[in-house]
Amino acid sequence: MISNGKHLVLMAPPGGGKGTQARVLRDALHVPHLSTGEMLRNAGRAGTPLGLQAKALIDKGNFVPDDMIVGLISERLDEPDCKEGFILDGFPRTLPQAKALDELMFEKGTRLDHVIEIQVPNDLIIQRIIGRFSCTDCGAMYHDTFKPTKVFGICDECGGTSFTRRQDDNWETVVSRLKTYQAITTPVLPYYEYQGLLSSIDGAGTVEAVSEKLRKVIGF
Ligand code: AMP
Repeated sequence: MISNGKHLVLMAPPGGGKGTQARVLRDALHVPHLSTGEMLRNAGRAGTPLGLQAKALIDKGNFVPDDMIVGLISERLDEPDCKEGFILDGFPRTLPQAKALDELMFEKGTRLDHVIEIQVPNDLIIQRIIGRFSCTDCGAMYHDTFKPTKVFGICDECGGTSFTRRQDDNWETVVSRLKTYQAITTPVLPYYEYQGLLSSIDGAGTVEAVSEKLRKVIGF
């Protein structure tokens, strides 16, 4: 099996910093950031049948079915920009998804290099989620208190002036998403531990502090 160390999975509870850290890794490693949540939200905005079905589930804080998400990822991994690696953010979230990913990787003659769990306490997660927003144009992520834009109303990264808040970032949905993470996603961690792929890092610090920990694990 051939691998170059850049086939990565980030696992964390909602609001755990996967998206933010995946963007840092994408820029450092020059491999695409694949966020299944973002793919589904884009499909929802585009009004495709899959997107509309997913939107109804996402807005209630429920998972979309495994076969739908595996199909989406399988197609995305076939695209040429994934040849040298990728950063998976939000996938796999269930054991069947993890097994399906192993099969997809096996078919491509490659394998995962690292699965990194970012650990964040629940009280911090809620604070992070309730205040977060992102640039509509480039996806840069911000927070009302922890990371506002440098100039009010203007994206630091692309100068855009339009921002988005996720519909599922409200108190009730977050509590349900956290419960689902505990019940359904945390059992995926021992699966990767058994394969010797899992590293866990403390994700409660600043973006830079967490990136540094990731850098040490991945070695870039
Ligand atoms: P995220 O942007 O990763 O927080 O994902 C937002 C929402 O999309 C989740 O709460 C789920 O409803 C759905 N979703 C994203 N990825 C998956 C997945 N791998 N399996 C099932 N549902 C997912």
